Amino acid sequence: MPREEEPYLLGPQRREDVGKKTLVLDLDETLVHSSFKPIDNPDIILPVEIEGNICNIFILVRPGVSSFLKRMHKHYELVIFTASLSKYADPLVDIIDPERFCSYKLFREHCTWLSNAYVKDMTRLGRKMTDIIIVDNSPVAYMLQPENAMPIVSWYDDPSDRQLSRTGNLLERLAYEPDVRRIIRKIISNNEIDPRSEQIYLHSGKRDHSQRVPPHT
Ligand SMILES: [Mg+2]
Repeated sequence: MPREEEPYLLGPQRREDVGKKTLVLDLDETLVHSSFKPIDNPDIILPVEIEGNICNIFILVRPGVSSFLKRMHKHYELVIFTASLSKYADPLVDIIDPERFCSYKLFREHCTWLSNAYVKDMTRLGRKMTDIIIVDNSPVAYMLQPENAMPIVSWYDDPSDRQLSRTGNLLERLAYEPDVRRIIRKIISNNEIDPRSEQIYLHSGKRDHSQRVPPHT
């Protein structure tokens, strides 16, 4: 736990997020891939000032990012948490999330420097640990709380990648669990989603929507 005087990284939940669990999203190789090297068809070219020079950063966006953010926003308070510098990540998130589904953005300065790595310590967020999930391609980032992590395969440029949609199916269910860690323990092993446990979980106790009262017509 943070020291008494150390403020939590997140403020109160936005009105539309009150009562939702918190989904923490990594940026690089989870939602985008960026490079200084020019590429043929970048989705975004972002000028960033580095040591007094303006450098263009060439960015590809992982397939399904905008629909993933929109879909997850219905169920979660969304927080971007990246170990990258804010001068790159802050404007980039505004571009990939034009509708502002993400309520908070956390950058390198919010990480904890540990074992020569930037670690994302979820206990510093100011949310209940039963209600936090981080989606990150790098296990180092969540090494302090692996039971809160939904690993995702690193993405660079594969246009046929569908991992955000796959992860979204699990997250949609996890949003309504009393303790996300209990399920994550079952379906994640060696920093990967176990396909068999995933299927068992997705097909178990399917909520019956047929009984739901339709909105008045
Ligand atoms: Mg990453």
